[in-house]
Amino acid sequence: MQQQQPRHRAPQDKQPIVFCDFDGTITLSDNIVAIMKHFDPPGWNGIVQDIISGAKSIRQGVGELFALLPSSRKQEVEDYVLQSAGIRPGFADLLALCKRKNIPFYVTSGGIDFFLRPLLAPYDIEESHIYCNSADFSKPHIEIVWPHPCDDECRNDCGMCKTRVIRRFPKERYYRMLIGDSVTDFEGAKLADLVFARSHLATRCKELGLPHYEYDTFFDVIEVLEEIIEGATPT
Ligand code: MG
Ligand code: ZN
Repeated sequence: MQQQQPRHRAPQDKQPIVFCDFDGTITLSDNIVAIMKHFDPPGWNGIVQDIISGAKSIRQGVGELFALLPSSRKQEVEDYVLQSAGIRPGFADLLALCKRKNIPFYVTSGGIDFFLRPLLAPYDIEESHIYCNSADFSKPHIEIVWPHPCDDECRNDCGMCKTRVIRRFPKERYYRMLIGDSVTDFEGAKLADLVFARSHLATRCKELGLPHYEYDTFFDVIEVLEEIIEGATPT
């Protein structure tokens, strides 16, 4: 892991808090892209490119992607994700560290509950600490439902608005850290005190000059995090 020096420190009067992406962060690859590659409905690739380039908002693009799949394939899609998704090494260790140090850990995901919740089930994460989207299989095609959309302060049409979740924890009181990998993390990263980044998010952090560390596994995150929170006093 490439380290920038000197390392950051969480101020003693702030509560460290972690917001962690799911697809391509907790899991090794992006499950939405994996689903599309596997089931290969016509037109999916162009939509993914439009999301990455910003030509389509995440909410619009992800909604369009799932609308390509018939609801009748729900079980197949779910089975495929559960058997193909791998969890990034060190995830359970990171959760244990956060618990030990009283650092609130939130999953902030642009993914969908029907594959996210079963994958997270083996881990000890409070239900109220998981933010993601949902899906309606009652119509001919899968319809994504957005329980946590952008508010007046975010114009990004996120779908699951990470900035809205992060803004609930004011920067005056919290040392906000975000772990992520790609487009769904771009807006949240701008609000964070510190970003753990890989892939597209690392590139974006460099472009914008955001304070960040690059990681490959969660063991990399743990190594830096332990130093950052040294001396921080959880409330
Ligand atoms: Mg991601
Ligand atoms: Zn938003």
